[in-house]
Amino acid sequence: MNLRFSGLSGSGDAATVPGMNVLVTGGAGYIGSICVEALLNAGHTVTVFDNLSEGHRSAVDPRAVLVENCLSNADAVADALRAARAEAILHFAAHALVGESMTNPGKYFRNNVAAGLNLLEAAVAGGVRKFVFSSTCATYGPPERVPMTEDLPQRPINPYGESKLMFEKMLRWFEQVHGLEFIAFRYFNAAGASERFGEHHRVETHLIPNLLAVALGQKPQAEIYGVDYPTPDGTCIRDYIHVADLAQAHILGLAPGKRGFFNLGNGDGYSVRQVLATCERVSGQKIPAVEKPRRPGDPPKLVAAADKARRELGWHPQFPQLEDMVASAWRWHQRHPQGYPD
Ligand code: UDP
Repeated sequence: MNLRFSGLSGSGDAATVPGMNVLVTGGAGYIGSICVEALLNAGHTVTVFDNLSEGHRSAVDPRAVLVENCLSNADAVADALRAARAEAILHFAAHALVGESMTNPGKYFRNNVAAGLNLLEAAVAGGVRKFVFSSTCATYGPPERVPMTEDLPQRPINPYGESKLMFEKMLRWFEQVHGLEFIAFRYFNAAGASERFGEHHRVETHLIPNLLAVALGQKPQAEIYGVDYPTPDGTCIRDYIHVADLAQAHILGLAPGKRGFFNLGNGDGYSVRQVLATCERVSGQKIPAVEKPRRPGDPPKLVAAADKARRELGWHPQFPQLEDMVASAWRWHQRHPQGYPD
């Protein structure tokens, strides 16, 4: 399979706004790096603000300016916004591991909420026109019904989801009080890679890269966290979305007047066992797996209804098949078996 990433151009039938100055926090991370590439391809000017604690220098597209600093440093944030003449902010930088948040909640509230507030205040002071926030389906907690629409009650069951919900609430107030126009994208499970950039966490906890590491012979076996969930095969169900499609949504969201909360998923649920079978098919390798207890904080089933993003933003995911997401990830991991060098 040979996917061409036309989705990364950000072009399409829906309106896009070329030529904005955009500050991207977390632009050296997995989703951020691929959105930076897409923004640049769409004609925007990009400054990446990243402390490289999770991100990688070589994941930053060389066409972007990199400011290596921390959101906890309010002066550095304000300086970076000024130097970038930022008209828009895409805010990806965050800690994002459900499991870790259950053992170290303070880390999540300090970084995702308190440090993020520096960015919000700097955005208002700097006259930024649009704030695009990476939120998550983890803000919902176990849903009352699936597919999940944006109006479902938000009752997170882990500090990660709670920290993202707190930031969403701050955004509502900053819009109401200061007129800061925002979009919060509630991602379901990001997957896949572009031709150049992919997923490399120094400690990998995510399902697909862990399965592919086994297929590459880097790990002896995979682990399945929980086989007694109330799902057909007993394992958790998630809705996977290609990062290139996430990137396209961000570009569409920069258009003036596009605002509010949007789920980004495909509306298809895949269990852990189904993802494993897909990784075996794509890689042509057997992936042995051991069954482990449930991972604390995991809801059994999260599947998006993303009609609102399609309707209001003109978003059309180009790679909705899990097989295509895994194929692009597999290609990237084969080419970068050790991930990024830094
Ligand atoms: N999972 C698993 N084994 C792994 C990693 C994850 O069984 O090595 C499960 C995890 O419990 C969850 C699903 O796979 O039900 C997706 O987890 P991931 O960490 O990829 O994303 P999350 O849903 O936490 O954002």
